[in-house]
Amino acid sequence: MLRVVTALFLVTALSGCAAAPASEIPAPIQSAKHEVILATQPKSVPLFDKTTFSLDAADSPWVVADKLRPLNPKKYKPAKLVTLKLPHRYDPRLRSNAAGAYAAMYAAAKADGVSFVILSAYRSYKTQVSVYNGWVERLGKAKADLQSARPGFSEHQIGLSVDIAAGNGKCTIAACFGTTPEGRWLTEHAWEYGWVLRYPKGKTHITGYKYEPWHWRYVGRGLAAEIHKTPNITLEEFFGLPAAPDYAK
Ligand SMILES: [Zn+2]
Repeated sequence: MLRVVTALFLVTALSGCAAAPASEIPAPIQSAKHEVILATQPKSVPLFDKTTFSLDAADSPWVVADKLRPLNPKKYKPAKLVTLKLPHRYDPRLRSNAAGAYAAMYAAAKADGVSFVILSAYRSYKTQVSVYNGWVERLGKAKADLQSARPGFSEHQIGLSVDIAAGNGKCTIAACFGTTPEGRWLTEHAWEYGWVLRYPKGKTHITGYKYEPWHWRYVGRGLAAEIHKTPNITLEEFFGLPAAPDYAK
């Protein structure tokens, strides 16, 4: 027995100490040039590039419109809009990437037993005139400005935003939409399809709008995933843009 143990010890010790053939030992890196190359190599996860797309051009997937950043031109209309053949109340058109992303998200939600209705998607400048004036008549200008953009300032006009309601109509255009199964599903999953919550809770001093759990903005999956890492962050904060609580005087 002792002999077996000794033999095993010897084998283990020998294999642990066995010298590797010279060809397997990497040569020590001493070259300064090599060290510079290593230092400039991208990390395994590349840093997110916030300059990939324009924040100013109305055609850009990352365009940021707010009360201090009107669309350019103010009567901008997307070159191409796709009509979604899914449940909707008003015009269900979106720019093609956003339309595809919405359809995919709709299907995924439905598979989870959650169903959405598009309340409003693309709105032309002219439509926004009547939507905004309607809110002003109903609430007065100050309150209207907290929930409806003036014409030429709306992200609905760029064709990348959608207002979503629950299939059963519960909490439509109301803060409690965020607590419905539909609102909760969106909070958990919308980013996976490239959408961000444009007007988060407690950020009126930055966005100029009250909390709108129904209003989702398409920015693409890369940016949405990056933004999702920081709960409740606005596009203004993410890109370091000035807060836009009100229109320029
Ligand atoms: Zn909206």
